[in-house]
Amino acid sequence: MKTILILHTGGTIAMSQNNDGAVVPNSANPLDTFTNPFQGKLKLITEDLFNLPSPHIRPEEMLLIQKRIMKAAAAGIDGVVVTHGTDTLEETAYFLDLTVPNDLPVVITGAMRSANEIGSDGLHNFQSAIQTAASPQAKGKGVLVVMNDEIHTARYVTKTHTTNVATFRTPTFGPIGLVTKKSVHFFEKLLLQSCHPIDHVVKHVYLIKAYAGMDPEILEMLNNSATNGIVIEALGAGNLPPAVLPALKKLLVKKVPIVLVSRCFNGIAQEVYGYNGGGIQLSRLGVTFCHGLNGQKARIKLLVGLSCGLKEQALADFVSDAVS
Ligand code: ASP
Repeated sequence: MKTILILHTGGTIAMSQNNDGAVVPNSANPLDTFTNPFQGKLKLITEDLFNLPSPHIRPEEMLLIQKRIMKAAAAGIDGVVVTHGTDTLEETAYFLDLTVPNDLPVVITGAMRSANEIGSDGLHNFQSAIQTAASPQAKGKGVLVVMNDEIHTARYVTKTHTTNVATFRTPTFGPIGLVTKKSVHFFEKLLLQSCHPIDHVVKHVYLIKAYAGMDPEILEMLNNSATNGIVIEALGAGNLPPAVLPALKKLLVKKVPIVLVSRCFNGIAQEVYGYNGGGIQLSRLGVTFCHGLNGQKARIKLLVGLSCGLKEQALADFVSDAVS
């Protein structure tokens, strides 16, 4: 019989709506009333790691989750389910994807409607996540996000709607599997990436977004000794307004890692344009293009790379390739 470790961390899945209509954390997790529907087939071990709304989750909490999973992996657990708030779920999922070996099924889920709201999706998502973590096919797929009957990779999934239960989508590629009424189906293989276990997380890795007429002052303010790295969500295929170039060059001269992704929802950032501020010039200046991740995930990748001591070219190689 397989044993699945359940780690609760908070979020709407652990919340309820009060009499004023506000969705608030509970002192007891409503999921604690979940009776194992897989009695005799799966053993569930449940731990309330913490009870935080996911905007309160920092890389420090992600590291705590990772350490608990690594301990369980060493003890021979068969799979792990993490329940988490949906706002930053994709970042925790990708952090774990980069730092936990991918032969252990790790599935993250949450809910868009709290425990006592009509149409609450928490219990259903929770059950689907357990089924997925127990599936033999979940091995070697990296960290998975299961919500609304779909299985997505941690690497590419993103929250796309503020309230809809079908909020999690994988732009460009789509989900890699489905949880049906009868079973768990995977229909894609995954390009595997290496695991980078870390024992601490660096701070001051920033994420900023480019916009028409972008003010260079933003980059100038980040030019200080605390800054460890910057991810910029650039325009289109990977371009920036020329007004920010002097500030950007000053940071690059100081060897501050600058990583570029696109602010577009689909597609990948590439060195395509040869005009002032275009991707070709940015690349020649030393900006690292991260191919295929969104801004928040590129930031997690940069943070993990810095935290495991990668520097300069090794760091750029790690961050630039979304599947390394
Ligand atoms: N704001 C909530 C959170 O991320 C949203 C959710 O869990 O769905 O904790």
